[in-house]
Amino acid sequence: MGLVTDRPRRISVLGATGSVGMNTLDLVARDPERYAVEALTANRDVAKLVAQVRAFRPAVAVVADPDRYGDLKAAIVGTGTEAAAGPKALVEAASRPADWVMAAIVGAAGLAPTVAAIRTGAIVAVANKECLVSAGAIVTAEVAKHRATLLPVDSEHNAIFQVFDFARREAIERIVLTASGGPFLNADRATMARATPAQAVAHPRWNMGAKISVDSATMMNKGLEVIEAHFLFGLPETAIDVVIHPQSVIHSMVGYVDGSVLAQLGTTDMRIPISFALAWPTRMNTPAARLDLASLGSLTFERPDLGRFPALALARDALKAGGAAPTILNAANEVAVDAFLAGRIGFLDIAGVVECVLEGKWPGPPATIDDVLAIDRDARRDAQAVMSGHNSTRKAKAT
Ligand code: NAD
Ligand code: MG
Repeated sequence: MGLVTDRPRRISVLGATGSVGMNTLDLVARDPERYAVEALTANRDVAKLVAQVRAFRPAVAVVADPDRYGDLKAAIVGTGTEAAAGPKALVEAASRPADWVMAAIVGAAGLAPTVAAIRTGAIVAVANKECLVSAGAIVTAEVAKHRATLLPVDSEHNAIFQVFDFARREAIERIVLTASGGPFLNADRATMARATPAQAVAHPRWNMGAKISVDSATMMNKGLEVIEAHFLFGLPETAIDVVIHPQSVIHSMVGYVDGSVLAQLGTTDMRIPISFALAWPTRMNTPAARLDLASLGSLTFERPDLGRFPALALARDALKAGGAAPTILNAANEVAVDAFLAGRIGFLDIAGVVECVLEGKWPGPPATIDDVLAIDRDARRDAQAVMSGHNSTRKAKAT
């Protein structure tokens, strides 16, 4: 009997209209015969989603925002793609049988759909780091229970995955996450205090969505990645180092007990880690620019400055504390980043808001996704309260 490998791979992209989603579809479009697109989802960008429906002909297209349902439905009439809207439809789309699912929704909003995809037992490529921060232990338990495969897409975790000897875990001493340092690597506190959203999202190396760009500027992104690495690779916080590497050529490293350090290098093009997840366990060609080390000349490294980047320390503390702390950290950060992007708080207030919320009372550790969502909701409310100064029980550090 021949192998059934000729049929196209059924793939779904959650968060298709975002930076990671579009990079994923760019790779798919280069070899369309190989893939059959099952579901594409977006938050509310109907125009972009409709263009993707026309190009990829998915079985279903979903907008999370129910108010956009009419626009979506009208625009894709006759394409053969079913239109759907709302959070339930998002989870249903993620639950449809697929061989491979890209989880690229930003924020805890991606948690329920990502878990739904995991429950189908599919290969799930995870870009949505917030779901691992917010519900890491629950997500990894669901992966084991449903025999799903989680492949890290975040460039650092993808790099580690590529050089991590899973068969000899005992030989691994530590991992080292590299960080570009973001746009304010060398800025003083006064400059950071005045930083505008436009300055904060102007990442020196990567072109990404607004939220992760602001997280990179505060270095909360690296903090979230330390927590993400803990859950993906099962290492304690003390075995996860962070080093600033402004050129972003080395995407991360694994240190072994003999003193060897293995690294993955490449240009800053997300299509490289995405392709690794898409082609896994093989590799595929990508149009990404090739590394030219001689032109680069030198690679530099330095220790992160926790004084100017307190968000990294907050995330480490949340991981050490465990329980509800990472869920609270993530939710408060999402609310604070939104408020910064909307011009409601200053750049340095982001970490201040997160710290204030974490100083409040914590519920017990979440045991289910519903527990996580309840803790997330309360932490969002607390963050709003801190920002509007209505919080009598906490010092207003946010100003
Ligand atoms: P983005 O903002 O460009 O795209 C986010 C996607 O999620 C969009 O399709 C948007 O429509 C959808 N979305 C947003 N809010 C939603 C909601 N409430 N419900 C349903 N869908 C919603 O973000 P991005 O830069 O592509 O990042 C996506 C995820 O990947 C994030 O978790 C980010 O941390 C991670 N990541 C991104 C990069 C990158 O290069 N952009 C690198 C590493 C990790
Ligand atoms: Mg990253």
